[in-house]
Amino acid sequence: MKSRSKRAAGSSAGSPALKLARSAWELQYRDAQGSLALAEQACEQAIAAGDVAAEGRARLARGFHWMRFAKPAKATEELALAQRCCESAHDRAGRILAVVGSARCAWMQGRYRESLDQVLPLRAEGMHALKGAERGMLLNGIAGCYSSLGQSAEAFAYMYQALRESAAPRTHGFDVVLYCNLGHELIQLGDHAEALRYLEEGIKRCAQLANPRLLSVLLINRIACLTDLARPRDALADVRRVLELPADETGRGATGAAFETLAIAALRAGESALGAELVARAVDAVAASPVADEHVELAVAEAELLRTHGQLAEAAAHLEGALPRIDDGVSLRVRCLYFEFLADAYQQLGNAPQALAHLRTWQRLHVERARRASQARYQAASLQTELLRLQHERDESEERRRAAERAKAELEAINRQLSQKVDEVQALQSALERLAVRDFLTGLFNRRHLNDVLPSMLALAARGREPLAVAIIDLDHFKDVNDRYGHLVGDMLLGAFGKLLATRMRKSDIACRYGGEEFCLLMPHTDAQTAQRKIAALLKLWRGVAFPVEGAHGGGTLTGLTFSAGVSDSVRAGGAAEQLLRSADACVLEAKRLGRDRIVAHSLAAHAEPAAVPH
Ligand code: GH3
Ligand code: MG
Ligand code: MG
Repeated sequence: MKSRSKRAAGSSAGSPALKLARSAWELQYRDAQGSLALAEQACEQAIAAGDVAAEGRARLARGFHWMRFAKPAKATEELALAQRCCESAHDRAGRILAVVGSARCAWMQGRYRESLDQVLPLRAEGMHALKGAERGMLLNGIAGCYSSLGQSAEAFAYMYQALRESAAPRTHGFDVVLYCNLGHELIQLGDHAEALRYLEEGIKRCAQLANPRLLSVLLINRIACLTDLARPRDALADVRRVLELPADETGRGATGAAFETLAIAALRAGESALGAELVARAVDAVAASPVADEHVELAVAEAELLRTHGQLAEAAAHLEGALPRIDDGVSLRVRCLYFEFLADAYQQLGNAPQALAHLRTWQRLHVERARRASQARYQAASLQTELLRLQHERDESEERRRAAERAKAELEAINRQLSQKVDEVQALQSALERLAVRDFLTGLFNRRHLNDVLPSMLALAARGREPLAVAIIDLDHFKDVNDRYGHLVGDMLLGAFGKLLATRMRKSDIACRYGGEEFCLLMPHTDAQTAQRKIAALLKLWRGVAFPVEGAHGGGTLTGLTFSAGVSDSVRAGGAAEQLLRSADACVLEAKRLGRDRIVAHSLAAHAEPAAVPH
């Protein structure tokens, strides 16, 4: 059975607005601006045409764009509309993607648990309805939630799977998103070398895309990674590149540029002026942010700025003030950053107990990171198994559907064969019926048919007070033909006479092969006299026949053919069939007796001698 979404998608596949919307969607990672332009156009056309399927897809593309470049709240509204349109167009994939987008908006606003609750129940359905990169987007959405909830193992597993799903050739740049997110997650796990590899690959691939926002996120992650690796100077070029990108729809988008991350890198690289400027910008950007990481990282950046001014004690005190913010919502990386700074600062201040305490916390966090890293590897394997199971289920149900379709096709083929056979049998049956009343050799009716129809023809004649004439024709000296030329020639001569008879009689006449070389003609509305004339004409024709033969004694032409016939009619012979035939038979005998080659008719006078037509 076809799913409704397939039918709906198929029915409007040709709509220009839908095509535009799909192009907009496919372009979203490659060319954010181009994608938005197409989505706007598609939306306008779809609304004007009342094309709800196209409207859903257009709003979906626009919603995803706004999610990245405008405010998440604005995008959420658009995605809710997209979801409704896709629902009424029975576009299952579109509906799921709209929810993935809405969940991503909630995630951007720090509502990680709510986001996960939205997106996780879609997993099984999404594995059925989505393909390739779109399936990857769903898995990446789940991964993002786990990442922010501190469940790195799950996050890593989903990202790894999303990357596998998006490895198909038509990924439209989404793979770069995954390289970016995997890099980010690997930083969380403390695997900086591996993180750098993913980020470098992402940055390399990003060169093919017109997507400054994605590039900025990749660069910010590389900055964080290089800072953690104590290589802040290597991060400076990236810091400048991020700052060159405008904070609008054509650049890195309205959402934060992670100024606090940039600030720490700049300050540790010795760029104190740039660092100070970045801290100031971070204070403005982070003030309203619901994301805990940003606040803690900003506190570290501020402390770093104090340290560059030689105010180490103030820096430590400032960070201590941020301690209440350290909770489950703060990522491992940021917590490490925080405690590492404090341990360092207290050590420099000569406060060994404080330094040691913070160092221990920092160490515990490192152990936790290592634990999560190993857990992540296990989780990735088990998730893969689970997703494979889902895929198997889908394949099996697909196989069942195909098997049912095959069975249906086979049944139809069998039905076709059956009706063909029925036709054949019917044709055979009518041929058999024909054979049952026909004489095989001459094609005329047989004697059985004559016996069948004669009584009713007589009854009809009697009712119409019309005579029914009967003629019995016996070929003369037929035995001689057989003897001289063989039976086969005899057969052919019988066939030839049958054909002559058939061509000369009326439609209403019935011609039968009566016996060996004897024939019988039934002629309605005809009396014996008229019949006699007709048979005489036939005799004349028969006499004129020159029949070519190939006998044992060489070829030749058979001529001088004759027959003897007796005619009678129902009026002269009196009602019954038997009587009529007998009377005609008697006339034949009389014709033979009189020397053959003639027709004898039953005389009108009772018991009168039959009237013969002489040679
Ligand atoms: P007559 O003029 O007295 O009728 O002589 P005749 O030879 O025609 O008559 P007779 O009754 O002596 O012989 C009839 C022959 O017709 C005998 C038989 O072999 C032949 N015959 C009957 N049925 C067939 C047939 O189907 N094919 C062939 N080739 N011969 C047949
Ligand atoms: Mg005979
Ligand atoms: Mg004969």
